[in-house]
This record gives sequence, C-alpha cells and structure tokens, in this order.
Amino acid sequence: MANQAIQVERIYKTYADGTAAVNDVSFSVPEGSCFGFLGPNGAGKTTLMKMLFGMVRRDGRAETRVDVMGFDPAFQELPIKHLCGVVPQDDNLDSEVNVGANLFIYSKFYGLPAKEARARIAELLDFMELKEKAKAKVNDLSGGMKRRLVIARALMNRPRLLILDEPTTGLDPQVRQLIWDKVRALKREGVTVLLTTHYMEEAYQIADSIIIMDKGSRVLEGEPHELLAEGIEPWVLEVLDKEGITSCQDGPLSERIRCEVGESRAQFFSDHPESLRDLAAAFPSGRTHLRPTNLEDLFLRSTGRKLNDQQ
Ligand code: ADP
Repeated sequence: MANQAIQVERIYKTYADGTAAVNDVSFSVPEGSCFGFLGPNGAGKTTLMKMLFGMVRRDGRAETRVDVMGFDPAFQELPIKHLCGVVPQDDNLDSEVNVGANLFIYSKFYGLPAKEARARIAELLDFMELKEKAKAKVNDLSGGMKRRLVIARALMNRPRLLILDEPTTGLDPQVRQLIWDKVRALKREGVTVLLTTHYMEEAYQIADSIIIMDKGSRVLEGEPHELLAEGIEPWVLEVLDKEGITSCQDGPLSERIRCEVGESRAQFFSDHPESLRDLAAAFPSGRTHLRPTNLEDLFLRSTGRKLNDQQ
C-alpha cells in the first residue's frame, strides 16, 4: 500500500457563531495522489482543507487524529506550511510589480538565495507556459494567466503537498485543460494534491479519490469511477416534457427503468441504454437527451440536492 500523505480521523469544526462547518469527517490520502473535496457551497470543503494546514483551528476533541506528512497542524503549523503550496480561490497577486517580480518576492518568504530563485522562476514560468509574460504587468494578464501565475507561485518552494481551492472556477475550457495537465504532471513527480471543486468534471478528470460533502458531513467517499459504478445506473434519459413527468408519476414503466421527477423534467435511469432509447421514441423529438450518468446525478440521488445549489 502506498504511504499515506494525510490521515484524518474524526475531525470537527464549529465556528464561534455556532456553525457546525465540519462534522465527524475521516479520510486518508496516499502520497502522490490527488484527493478531491466535492460538494455544494457551504458544504465545509474549504474549512476542512484549511484545517489541514493550520489556517483554521479544529475543535479540540479526544477522538480526533490528524497527520499531514508526519505533522499535526494543530501543533506543528510551521513545518506543514513549509511542505505546502497553497493556491487560494482569489488571485491575490501584487499588481504593483510584474510577473517575474511577483515570484521573486515570494521566493524571499522561503529564503531562497537570489541566484537559485531566478533559476526556479525561469523553470516555473516555463512549466506554467508563461515564459513570454515574465515582464508583463499583472493587470495586463488574462484571468487564466493570473491563475497560472498563482499556481507557479505556490510551486516556488517545491511543495510536497499542493492545495488547490477551486482552481479553475470561471476559467475557459482551454485553460482548465492546461491546468489539469499540469496537475497530472505534478502527481507524476510525487506531489500530493488536495483539490476543492464544485465541478464534477474536474474531480473526474484529475482526482484519484474524492469525498463528497454536504452540510459538513461526508456523503460518499472513494474513487470517482467506482462510486459511479456502485451508486447509480450508468445511463439516464432526460425528458423535458410534461408527458415525461406524467408518465413518471404514473408509476414504474418497467423494472429495468427507475424514474425521478425534477422541477421541469423527468429522468429515467437504467442499466440498459436500449430500453431508454425505446422509451425516448415515445416523446417528441428534441425534448429528450440520453447520456451517461455523472457525479452530479449521484450527489442528487444521495442527498436529494443539486451539487451547484446555492444555499
Ligand atoms: P465550502 O468551502 O464547501 O463552500 P465552507 O467551509 O466555506 O464551505 O463553509 C462551511 C460553513 O461554514 C458555511 O455554512 C459557512 O457559512 C460557514 N463558515 C465558513 N467560514 C466561517 C467563519 N469564518 N465563521 C463562521 N462561519 C463560517
């Protein structure tokens, strides 16, 4: 079995105002893998992740155990900070200075000698495909470039643990693909990656294992493909038609098909796509959509709520 980079047993967080943000969550993360925290806004993903590098203090409870690369963040925050690179949700770059200088200033926090820092900066700009932008002003960068610069900055100290909080929110698909490629490359180098996201596709693409949270608690945990295979039928026919909803409400169509009514659509789930194809023929064309099920469907099935619901 691979060495565990992170082991968390029964962690809790209640904020001063009484909000129970994380409630009895346990998981472990093998070294060199990517672990994804998934869930709607307010699920507790950020709080959980921040507790791992000491930015949020967990509740003091006897049953809690936390080990991050051999350290406990409640007592050994500093060594963990040195092992970590953090990419926060906001691009908190220094707009007063250019791209290269943003990285150079950061290198000083880690006490890198200037010569070594310059070499590392060149390497990182190359890796994040920003070489031509070394002298550009931060304000002249696109959103995608800023994000790549924040990632380059987080890699300055060659972290063994990279923390990505919603790394591709608001970015176009091309940049998103590029960032996913970089995360895969880092994993191959043995970097352990923690990721929060509300994009199921992102989790599916780069996470080896995920925990799906809702209201502070764990709903599901495991390898994304296995969770899908075990938790939900592989196919769904969506019908955007009143008749679809009526036929769903009328009762079971066949034992091969399970049906659920949403706000403006009916969903027919099955292991047998041919049965769904036959069913689709009964509805007006253009009002049906047959597709493989995904983590969003699984979350909805497990909680009765949508992943991207705002609270
Ligand atoms: P997520 O990252 O999944 O959106 P968060 O960890 O940010 O979830 O928040 C979990 C819950 O804790 C939410 O109800 C949020 O309002 C609350 N919360 C987050 N930070 C604080 C804070 N500093 N003080 C009080 N409540 C907070």
